[in-house]
Amino acid sequence: MKKVIATPDPRLRQKSRKVSQITDETHQIIADMLEASLKWEESHPYELSAAIAAPQLGVNQRIILVRDDLDDKTNNSFTALINPEVIKTEGKITRDYEGCLSVPEIYGLVPRPRKVKIKALIEDGHEVRVKAEGYLARCLMHEIDHLDGILFIDHIKDDETAFFHLDDNGDLVPIDYARKIKNNSQLFPTDPEND
Ligand SMILES: [Zn+2]
Repeated sequence: MKKVIATPDPRLRQKSRKVSQITDETHQIIADMLEASLKWEESHPYELSAAIAAPQLGVNQRIILVRDDLDDKTNNSFTALINPEVIKTEGKITRDYEGCLSVPEIYGLVPRPRKVKIKALIEDGHEVRVKAEGYLARCLMHEIDHLDGILFIDHIKDDETAFFHLDDNGDLVPIDYARKIKNNSQLFPTDPEND
């Protein structure tokens, strides 16, 4: 069973390669992604595993897996999208909470466009186009970011009011930005240009 990797693992910061052909290996990666997200959820009773990207298992290939019903933790069916690409984003920029299996303990209020149109291949090789809005659109953009080595925290890096953590009751409370987030090299790889 493959484990979900977390920051500062450098594989989360790499650009993933396209899947040139869907093979048994591709199906195996997808099966591993499903297993890992369900396993993670078992140990996180307040949280829903909405989606996962292959780099989160240390596999730098352009594959994401999205839960079919984002409101229902008892529904364990997911859809794999291979080589997903954003065609267009639309609508107002809205801020909402995001978390990530690979950024433990941290939640953020991330601004993103409300709607997105993407294209991708599904597991049988057919191309699909998906129009999404609201939370699903947010999830798709978050996962596609992973394929380019981008984490949700990168979008809010300088926003002192955007970071939260879950307390023991499952409530989101603000994090001390100056002490825990700012210049945290575990979260943000140091950029030599800024030193
Ligand atoms: Zn993530």
